Order: sequence, then structure tokens, then C-alpha cells
Amino acid sequence: MSGQMEHANLFEDARSHLEDVFAAIDVPGDARERLMQPNLSLQVSVPVRMDDGSLKVFPGWRVQYDTTLGPAKGGIRFHPDVSQAEVTTLSFWMAVKCAVVDLPYGGGKGGVKVDPKQLSKLELERLARSYIRAIADVVGPERDIPAPDVNTNATVMGWMADEFDHLARGKVPAAITGKPPALGGSKGRVAATGRGALHVLDLWAEREQRKPEQTTVAIQGFGNAAYHFARLAHERGYRIVAVSDSKGTIYSREGLDPDAIMEQKERNKRLHDMVYCDDSVCIAENVEKLERDELLTLKVDVLALAALENQVHEENVDQLRCGAVLEIANGPVTGQADVRLEERGVPVLPDVLANTGGVIVSYYEWVQNRSGERWAEEDINKRLAKRLKAQSDKVFERAERDGISYRKAAYRQGIERIAHAIQLRGQCQDSE
Ligand code: NAD
Repeated sequence: MSGQMEHANLFEDARSHLEDVFAAIDVPGDARERLMQPNLSLQVSVPVRMDDGSLKVFPGWRVQYDTTLGPAKGGIRFHPDVSQAEVTTLSFWMAVKCAVVDLPYGGGKGGVKVDPKQLSKLELERLARSYIRAIADVVGPERDIPAPDVNTNATVMGWMADEFDHLARGKVPAAITGKPPALGGSKGRVAATGRGALHVLDLWAEREQRKPEQTTVAIQGFGNAAYHFARLAHERGYRIVAVSDSKGTIYSREGLDPDAIMEQKERNKRLHDMVYCDDSVCIAENVEKLERDELLTLKVDVLALAALENQVHEENVDQLRCGAVLEIANGPVTGQADVRLEERGVPVLPDVLANTGGVIVSYYEWVQNRSGERWAEEDINKRLAKRLKAQSDKVFERAERDGISYRKAAYRQGIERIAHAIQLRGQCQDSE
């Protein structure tokens, strides 16, 4: 998906979920007004000295959608399609998401419109540092805490954290999460989004009395979130029959081994160039190469969407043949497609619940940084599982009680919490 027009629609699409919440539950007028637009939207220029000596300036944004429940929290994306509308939409989802899993955070997001694949490693480091300098005034442990997102990772967060320390003339590890563990990053953060998505899938499967061994899964995207989800789901006994990346899909009815795929992908860079048996590592028997988007229409029990937004839309939704959808990416199903899936009785485990593992462990990183502690990975994974069980059960029970989709139940849970806090802050907070 690309283009400003589509991103503008994305924000309208995202906000349409608010209308459903406002119609269904008692949300006071002040909260309605506040939640319709972001608190703060900062556009910056991000100058980068290129290796050849020239200067390039990339547009960047940081948006804080709502900070009623706590400081803004959300990732930074480097991608050629980034736009203000996309960053705003992602910050809105972060606000809902943090509230759904009861974190003391508001929602934020950042992005730079750049193709990082065209940059050298040093250019990428200069970009990361330049971006954090540009937004530093609104960042901090009690204001806004960035983290990784698409095309940014622990290494990039390490550079940003270092730059922020220089600007602050001191150590402020809690200002940025998703850092390498040696710089105060939390154990378990890299796998947290995938691990969290698996917990949500497991909790749902248990309610449906469905066993992992009886469940086939196709995964769109094979990046950070998808790989860890695939690896852990495979260990649990789910059969991963297909995975795709931006170039193509591989499929095996017998099931694929995610670790072997990752090993080969690192060597060959794209799934479609893989050799299926190499150095005696066989990914699977009978692997087929399919067109990239054929993955979406495979007959599987669970379709896990872990690439980008707007992947299932009005034009392709009726071709889906999956039993359920798991949203690991943010906003992979458009509002219209979501309505259609609901009509067809296809359950969707929504992004604002299913992909919260990353932000939950980012929260644990922030708590560790603020208290000067380092927790064991086992402890972190236990806390993550406990929080997700408590909050997912509430969403599932509400959906069953009210006869609504999991997405509607999750939005009602999140927005209710934010609206309640807005109300408790009083009525004169913004007037002279
Ligand atoms: P990533 O850049 O590591 O991976 C993205 C993957 O999607 C890549 O493998 C890419 O090739 C693939 N892809 C892109 N377009 C595709 C297409 N049309 N079809 C198939 N594959 C395609 O990013 P990530 O960090 O894994 O994030 C993926 C999604 O998960 C994003 O929506 C992100 O916002 C969301 N998310 C990530 C985290 C996290 O902690 N990483 C947390 C919450 C949500």
C-alpha cells in the first residue's frame, strides 16, 4: 500500500472504530472531542550527510495522539511510504492498544519518509541520530518514549539512545525502548511481539477447543514480528504451511521449519531464491513457490498478517478462505473488509490486542531502566503471559457477552479506560 490518498483514508478508517464505540457505550462529550484528533503532531526535516559528501533532507514526523493515561509510547518507522496521516493513524492505534492491555501510557508514533535500503550503515546511523535530534524536545521518560517499528531495530534504537544521552548531558535509558540489552534493553524484547501474538492465538484456540496440532497457519510477512511468532508457534505444534515476504510466498502442505527458512533467507535475502535442501538442512518436503498474494487466499485455519497495513481490503476480502485472522501487523484489515469478515463469521484477533507483546515488554524495559533493575527473561515472559491472559480474557468475555466482534470488544475496553481518565482529570484542564 502506498500513497498519500490511501493514508488519508487509513486515518478515517481507523477513526471509524471510534464511532462504533461512541454509539455503543457512554463516552462523555469531552472525551469524544479529545479522541477525534491528535494532541501533538510535529513535522521535522531530517538532514543527513551522505557518504559522498552531499546533504539529503528527509521529511519526518512524531505524533502524540493521546497522553491521558501516561507518556506517549510508540515506534519509529523508516519507510518510503511514510506520511503524516500514516504516522497519525499508527499513533491512534498505539493509544488504543496501550489502554486495551492496561499500560500507563498514551499513544505515539514516529516515522521518516526514506528508503533505508538505499543507505549505507553510516548513513543510517546519521539518519537515526538526526531524527532523534529533531524530535528531542518532545521525547523523554515522562513525555514520549520511542521504540522500534518497521525497518528500525535494536541497533537503530541504540544509536538514538546514545544521541539522546548526549543531548541530555547524562544517561536517560528510559527515554527509548527496544535498545540492545548491553545499553539497558530488556531481555525478551526482540521476540515479544511474536510471543504475545502466539499467547493471544493460544488463548483463543483454547476457548474454541482447538489443538495446535490440528491448526494450519499461513503468515504474511517474514520480518521480526513474524519470524518469532512462526518459530514459537512451530515449537507449540502449530503447522506453518506458508510464509511470504515482499517478493513471494513459499508453501508446503506438510509444514515449514521457520528456523531453517530464516537461516536460508539470511543467506539468499529473499524467500523465492531459496534452495530447499542445502547443507542437509531441508526446509520441508514438497515446497512450492507461489505468487506473493496467493498466500492470502490459501485454505488454512489461521491467516496471520504480519507485514503492513491495508493488506486485506474490499477487493480481496471475499477471496479469503481462512478460518480466522490473526493481526500481528498494525491495521492489516481495512474497516470495510472487517465488516465483511464479521458478516461471514470469520473471527479476527485484532491488532490492538494481538500485537501488544512488543509494547508490553517495552513497558517492562522502561520500568527496569527507571528502577535500575535487570529482570531475568523467564520472569519477563511470565509477566507478559499473565498480563495478556488477564486482558485477553476480558476482551473475549465482553465479545461473547455482547455478541460483538473481538475488535469491537477490544476498542470498547481501551476507549472506555481512556475516556474514564479524561473525565477524572476534570473539566477545566484546557480552559483559561
Ligand atoms: P519488518 O520490517 O521486520 O518485517 C516486515 C516484513 O513484511 C518483511 O519481511 C517484508 O518483506 C514483508 N512484506 C512487506 N510487504 C509485504 C507484502 N505485501 N506481502 C508479504 N510480505 C510483505 O517489520 P516488523 O517489525 O516485523 O513489523 C511488521 C508489522 O508488525 C508492522 O505492521 C508493524 O507495525 C507491526 N508491529 C511490529 C512490532 C515489533 O515489535 N516489531 C510491534 C507491533 C506491531
